[in-house]
Amino acid sequence: MNANVSPVHTPMMQQYLRIKADYADMLVFYRMGDFYELFFDDARRAAKLLDITLTARGKSGGNAIPMAGVPYHAVESYLAKLVRKGESVAICEQVGDPATSKGPVERKVMRVVTPGTLTDEALLPEGRDNLVAAVCIDSDRIGLAWLDLAGGRFRMTELADREALDGELERLRPAEVIFNEENQDLRFREEVRSTGRPPWHFDLDSATRLLSSQFGTKDLAGFGCNELPLGVAAAGALLQYVADTQKTSLPHLSSITVEQQCDAVIMDGPTRRNLELDESLTGHQEHTLAGIMDRCQSPMGSRLLKRWIQRPLRDTEVLRGRYQAIELLIHERLIEPVQASLHGIGDVERILSRIALRSARPRDLRQLGVTLSRIPELRRELKHRDSPLIESLCRQISEHGQQRDLLQKAIIDNPPMLIRDGGVIAAGHDDELDELRAIADNADQYLVDLETREKERTGIHTLKLGYNRVHGYYIEISKGQASKAPDDYVRRQTLKGAERFITPELKEFEDKVLSARERALSREKHLYEGLIDALNEVLVNLQATASGLAELDVIASFAERSETLNLSKPELADEPCLEIRGGRHLVVEQVIDMPFVANDLLLDEQRKILVITGPNMGGKSTYMRQAALITILANIGCFVPADYLRIGPVDRIFTRIGASDDIAGGRSTFMVEMTETATILNNATESSLVLMDEIGRGTSTFDGLSLAWAAAHHMGEKVRAFTLFATHYFELTALADEVPGCANVHLDATEHKGQLVFLHAVKPGPANKSYGLQVAALAGVPPDVIRRARKYLAVLEAQQTHDHPQTQLPFGTEVVGPEADHLGEALDEINPDELAPRQALDVLYALKKLRDESAD
Ligand code: ADP
Repeated sequence: MNANVSPVHTPMMQQYLRIKADYADMLVFYRMGDFYELFFDDARRAAKLLDITLTARGKSGGNAIPMAGVPYHAVESYLAKLVRKGESVAICEQVGDPATSKGPVERKVMRVVTPGTLTDEALLPEGRDNLVAAVCIDSDRIGLAWLDLAGGRFRMTELADREALDGELERLRPAEVIFNEENQDLRFREEVRSTGRPPWHFDLDSATRLLSSQFGTKDLAGFGCNELPLGVAAAGALLQYVADTQKTSLPHLSSITVEQQCDAVIMDGPTRRNLELDESLTGHQEHTLAGIMDRCQSPMGSRLLKRWIQRPLRDTEVLRGRYQAIELLIHERLIEPVQASLHGIGDVERILSRIALRSARPRDLRQLGVTLSRIPELRRELKHRDSPLIESLCRQISEHGQQRDLLQKAIIDNPPMLIRDGGVIAAGHDDELDELRAIADNADQYLVDLETREKERTGIHTLKLGYNRVHGYYIEISKGQASKAPDDYVRRQTLKGAERFITPELKEFEDKVLSARERALSREKHLYEGLIDALNEVLVNLQATASGLAELDVIASFAERSETLNLSKPELADEPCLEIRGGRHLVVEQVIDMPFVANDLLLDEQRKILVITGPNMGGKSTYMRQAALITILANIGCFVPADYLRIGPVDRIFTRIGASDDIAGGRSTFMVEMTETATILNNATESSLVLMDEIGRGTSTFDGLSLAWAAAHHMGEKVRAFTLFATHYFELTALADEVPGCANVHLDATEHKGQLVFLHAVKPGPANKSYGLQVAALAGVPPDVIRRARKYLAVLEAQQTHDHPQTQLPFGTEVVGPEADHLGEALDEINPDELAPRQALDVLYALKKLRDESAD
C-alpha cells in the first residue's frame, strides 16, 4: 500500500510522495545523504529483488514506513541488477543546498533508467543490442519502431499481421516495448517489459511534428516514411518516451531508417529460435551460428554480425559486394593486419552516443582517441584495393586527425572513472590549468621559500609561516619580537605569546592557492565539456566512421572464418534453385568428436520436395538445418560451409521443427505444431525454403500421418516451395510417386554385430529399415525391455491373421491380434520418461511396420 500525500506525513515524506506520484509504475531511488532510499511498496519490492534489508523509518501518518536503501557509490551495480529483472528506476537527487533550505532540501528526478533505454557502459550487455520498441496497431496493419539508444540507431517498419510482428519482435528482442494503452489485447512474451502509453502519444500529426523537430527537417518525406503512417505514429510515441526518460536532448538521433520487409529473407519467431541463430534452445550463445562465425575484434562488430544473421538480405548486389571483399582480404593476405588494427578499437558506436548524451566518461574519450589513432594504418592497408565495398568503407572511415590529436593531447593515459575528482586532463593541454595545478602543487615549497626570505629580511629567526582555517595564512612572530615587524606586516590575530601578520604578497598567494584547487577542478570540468562539445560538432562523421569500422570488422571476421573453417564463395542464381555440394553444419561439425560427413542437396524446378527418412539420430535434422544455415550465410554475404553452392532468390525460411508446449500461451504441443504448419501452408511461396520435421507428432499416429500426408501434398501441388520433409512415417515415402517434384532421400545406417552404426550419409531413395529397437537401446531403454520387444516383434512377424480384438497402445498405435495384450504389457514397461517420445514412436513404428508386413 502506498500512502497518499497528507498533512499527517512529515514534510520530507510529503515531498517523497509528491515525486513518487509522477513515477508510480517504477521504483523511485530517493537520495538521502550517502544513500538512495526506497519507501513503502518500492522498499518491499527492492528488498526482494536486490536481497537488501527491509527496515522501517520513524513514523509517518501514524505507521512505520517500510524502507530499504543502497549506498550511492554502489548504485550502478544495483541498477544493473534491477534492469536485468525488467525494472525501471527513477533516480531522485538532492538539487537544493541543504545549508540554505528551509524544510527538506529540494529534490528532483534527474535520470530514469529503463531496461530499453540504457546507455551506461556498466548497465549495457556488451554483445547484444539493447532496444526499446513501440507498436502501433490499427484494424489491418501494424506499425513498429525501435531504437538502439546506445548505438544511435532508429528504425521503423510496417507489418501485415501479428505473426509478422512476432517474427520481428523475436528478431529484435527489445528489452522494452511501449504500446498504446488502449490496445488492451496486445500481448508480449513474458520476459519483455511492456509499458502502456496514452493514445495521444500515437497521434500521427504530433508524431510527425516531434520527429521532424528532432531531425531538424520540415517533414519526414526525406526518410521515405510517408507511406507508413503507423510506423511514424510508433516512432513518434517512442521518441516521446525516450525524451521523457532521458531528460536531455538526443543529438545522436539525426534520422530514422525505414526497413522494408521485402528486402530481407523473412523468418518467423519459431524459425529463428529453432535454427539457433544467436542463442541456442537452451539459452547459450556458444554453439550457435553467431557463436561460430563471430571473430570480430570489437563489440560493435559482434553486434552488427548478429544483426546481419538475424536479417539476411535479398539484394544480390550487396551480397556479391561482400563476397568480393572477403575474397580480397583472403587473397591479399589482409585478414591478419586488418584484424590487428581493429583489435581493441573499443565500442566507439556506444561511446559516441554517450558523448551525444553528454554522459561520456573520461575512459570513453581516451578509448576514442586510441581508436582514431589506429585509423591511418588501417586506411593504408585498405587503400586502392580492388573491391568497391572495401573502397567505400575506406572512404567512410575517416581519420579525424584534429579530434585524434585533441584527445591524445588532452586526456591522460589512464584516466580515473569519473571527471568529478579531476586528474583527467593531461598536463600541457591548457596553460591556465597547468598554472593552477602548479600553484596548488608548489604551495608548500613556496611557503618554505617565503619563510626563509622573511627571516632574512626581518632578522627574526623565530618567525614562522602557518595556516589556520579561520584566518588563513599568517606570519607568526613571538610577542617579544613583534615590534621588529616591518611596516608592510598587517596584524591579523593576537595570541597570548605571539602576533600573527599578513603581508600583501602572502595575501595574494593565499587567494591564489586557496582557490587554485577548486579552480583547477572547475577548469578541468570546463575543458572536459569543451572536448565533448568539440566532438559533438563532428558527431555525424564520427558515427559514420564507427559504423564503417563495425562493418569492416564483420567482413574481416567472415574472411577469417572462411579461411579457417574452409568455407566457399556462393554462386547466386536468378532462378529458384538450391544446389549444395559437400554441405556441412557448422555448429554440429564443431561439437562432434568424429569427422563430419558432408552431404549434397539438390533442389530445382523439377525437384522441389525431399522426403527424408532414416533412423532417429541418423542426421535428418542436421541435414535440414544445414540447408537453412547455408542459405542464411549466403544471404548475409558470407562464404558457406560447402564445397560448392548455387542458390537462387529466397524470400522466406520456415521451419516446423520439434514441438514443445506453449505453456505461457496455453496451447498444447499439437496446437503449436498445427499453428506453425498452417502458417507455412498459408504463407510459403515458390521462393521459400521450408523445413518440416516430423509433422503430426503431437497427435495420435494415424491422425498425424494423415495430416503430414495432406500437408506434403499441398506443399507439392499448390505452394511449390523448396521443402525438406523429414519424417518418421515410412508411408510418406510413397509421396514421391504421387506428387510431382517430390523425391526420397534417406540417411544411411547399418547394423554391425547387433549394433546400429549411423553413417550420416544422404542417399537417394527411401530408408529401408527403421532400426527402432536399436535406437531405443541406444537411448537407454533397459535391455530386458528390448529383449521382450524383440520377442514380440518375432511374434508379430509370424502372425498372419487379423481376426482378433484391437488394442490401443500407448502413443496411439493400434495393434490387433492375440499378441496385442503381451505387446501392450511390454510397451507399458517402457518408461516414457526414460524414452524420448520420438524413440518410443520408433519402437512402435517398427512393430507396426513388421506387423503390417507380416500381414501382407
Ligand atoms: P535425426 O534428426 O535423424 O534424429 P540428428 O540430425 O539430430 O538426427 O543427428 C543426430 C546426431 O548425429 C547429431 O547430433 C550429430 O552428432 C550426428 N550427425 C548428424 N549428421 C551428421 C553428419 N553429417 N556427420 C557426422 N555426424 C552427424
